[in-house]
Amino acid sequence: MEKDKSPGQILEEKLIYKKKTLWEKFGTEEKEQTADFGEKYKDFLSRAKTERLAVEILLEEARQAGFRDLRLLTDINPGQAFYVLHREKVLLLGVMGKKPLREGLRLVGAHLDSPRLDVKPQPLYESRGLALFKTHYYGGIKKYQWPAIPLALHGVVIKGNGEKIKLAIGEDEAQPVFTVTDLLPHLAKTQLQKKMHEAIGGEDLNVLTGSLPYDDEQVQDKIKLAVLNHLHRQYGLVEEDLISAELTLVPAGPARDVGFDESLVGGYGQDDRGASYAAFKAIRELKDPLHTAVAYFVDKEEIGSTGNTGAQSRFLEDAIAWLATLAAEKIPRGLWQIFDRTTALSADAVAAEDPSWAGVLDKYNAPLLGHGVVIIKYTGHGGKYDTSDAHAETVAEIRNLFNENQIIWQTGELGKVDQGGGGTIAQYLARTGMDVLDCGPSLLSVHSPFEIASKADLYMCYKAYKVFLSS
Ligand code: MN
Ligand code: MN
Repeated sequence: MEKDKSPGQILEEKLIYKKKTLWEKFGTEEKEQTADFGEKYKDFLSRAKTERLAVEILLEEARQAGFRDLRLLTDINPGQAFYVLHREKVLLLGVMGKKPLREGLRLVGAHLDSPRLDVKPQPLYESRGLALFKTHYYGGIKKYQWPAIPLALHGVVIKGNGEKIKLAIGEDEAQPVFTVTDLLPHLAKTQLQKKMHEAIGGEDLNVLTGSLPYDDEQVQDKIKLAVLNHLHRQYGLVEEDLISAELTLVPAGPARDVGFDESLVGGYGQDDRGASYAAFKAIRELKDPLHTAVAYFVDKEEIGSTGNTGAQSRFLEDAIAWLATLAAEKIPRGLWQIFDRTTALSADAVAAEDPSWAGVLDKYNAPLLGHGVVIIKYTGHGGKYDTSDAHAETVAEIRNLFNENQIIWQTGELGKVDQGGGGTIAQYLARTGMDVLDCGPSLLSVHSPFEIASKADLYMCYKAYKVFLSS
């Protein structure tokens, strides 16, 4: 009996929407599953330091789970798991649904690129007894966060003869790391008076690569030559090869547990490899979904979803057209009809309220770490510019689906009105005609070298994407 509750309390329970903490809702089994998920996630995050590496890892696991190359299939039936790989940077995974394609898809879209320091086409120079690489930062970084931390070098170099060399230096403890140097506080008087975004300039993000001279008095840039000699002996490279390369510097080392209770994960690239991993795990486990389920992992989100591997490209149309051809189904309005009946989740990270930085989010609409997967009706900036702003009907569809399946969710915004803002791939997915809702984990220290996520949130994202993709 609720004999102690006042009429007002009973009305409160019925009418008022309350946030829930996952940890308080989880039983022993869910806590164990969350811990297990956290371990596998950290392993993924530690290895998937670039979009190419993330694609490589996900594709390998997908193949092992029975996903087949769509372009090699001759026909397709319900339950068939397939993949489409694009330029080593985009991966589309799908499972054919029981319903015909003309009934639309259930699509989860996430991005695999993260902010970082890209190596310039002509990076190597020598100055004051040191060899350095020039870099060009990629995506939205706070430049002052990148000096004085160990960095690992990843990427590919295409040699003059066409051979592709993969580099990965700095993750293994036995390997060296690289770093951007900063000024000592004793002499930083001028620097410290600058605005934070000016204190470290873009052209100041130069990376230390060596200090040993090549032993020959006749040579002018001895240290530069010694570094090139190392690259030549180790990988067969010459300086011109660095022009046809994609080398990038990212925070070195593995993802770690954070906190006495080990409830959080700290690591680089969780925007958006957290949601990506959750979406991957969801689709990999999918059996016989109702609608055809698609997990779409794209590149270039951090620089505006541009290029032929970004969400603004036409790759998705091409992949689904291929699928429709294989399905050999009569679809009167073709691709438009499929997309028009598709519902999508844009699986991307959003900022959680940070107790040390309160005030940039509207506290009534701010997501909290550990309080579930976040549904975000709109992102954008100013007067909702550059957002697809999900329809109330779409929000209702997802909210009800989650409620029916014990998915613990909360709502969020990108930030206070006029505080700043940003976008996701939602607006580009929406261009095809599909209904799209942003839905992902909230993080702290977003875009920093060490982003923080709650294991419980990531686990709940995976559950949410799985429920959605099965529907
Ligand atoms: Mn993101
Ligand atoms: Mn981002």
